[in-house]
Amino acid sequence: MLARRGLMLVLSSPSGAGKTTLSRRLLASDERITMSVSVTTRAPRPGEEHGKDYYFVDRESFHRMRDEGELLEHASVFENLYGTPRGPVEEALSAGRDVLFDIDWQGTQQLGESAQQDLVKVFILPPSAADLEQRLRARAQDSEEVVHHRMAKASDEISHYTEYDYIIINHEVEDSLAKLVAILQAERLKRRRLTGLSSFVKGLRDAL
Ligand code: 5GP
Repeated sequence: MLARRGLMLVLSSPSGAGKTTLSRRLLASDERITMSVSVTTRAPRPGEEHGKDYYFVDRESFHRMRDEGELLEHASVFENLYGTPRGPVEEALSAGRDVLFDIDWQGTQQLGESAQQDLVKVFILPPSAADLEQRLRARAQDSEEVVHHRMAKASDEISHYTEYDYIIINHEVEDSLAKLVAILQAERLKRRRLTGLSSFVKGLRDAL
């Protein structure tokens, strides 16, 4: 039978480049892809839900998960710890479902070490520095100090763009979403992701 192993679609960007909105839009438009919900030691922001946006845990629980091998990757970002729970990802991939990751460059590098074949890496860039600053301020959830810190960190994050397969400059969300959908569709059609293809083709040829 013709089947496909799921792929891992990673979205990285400096914070404020519009990655969260894009992820939400992609998830709403395509039921074959599910979000990997990370664990973090960061405090929830207003409106964030445990189990939906993140699993909010204390440092002790995070360290326990990491030490017991329950995290596929983990990293420290803005002094908080973030990690990807292994179980749900492995389950989805082997069932042929795709998984979306909103993780930073450190996590992306770690996933590349163990799952290069399944990985599709997309980097989202803001159209300009002024645009990024404006989006960070518009959030209004973070203090002025945090905004400054994030602006400084953005340059570090952006320096890793060369490690990604695709670049989307996020001028406008609809246009960026269309690009992301196109990437996902093309990646799903990669020959190497298909299992049972040779017997399918053999059947076709035998019938000719
Ligand atoms: P925020 O605190 O704004 O939700 O996320 C801060 C940064 O941490 C973002 O760049 C986000 O992509 C990254 N991040 C979120 N979850 C994970 C994770 O599980 N692993 C890694 N490596 N980075 C993550």
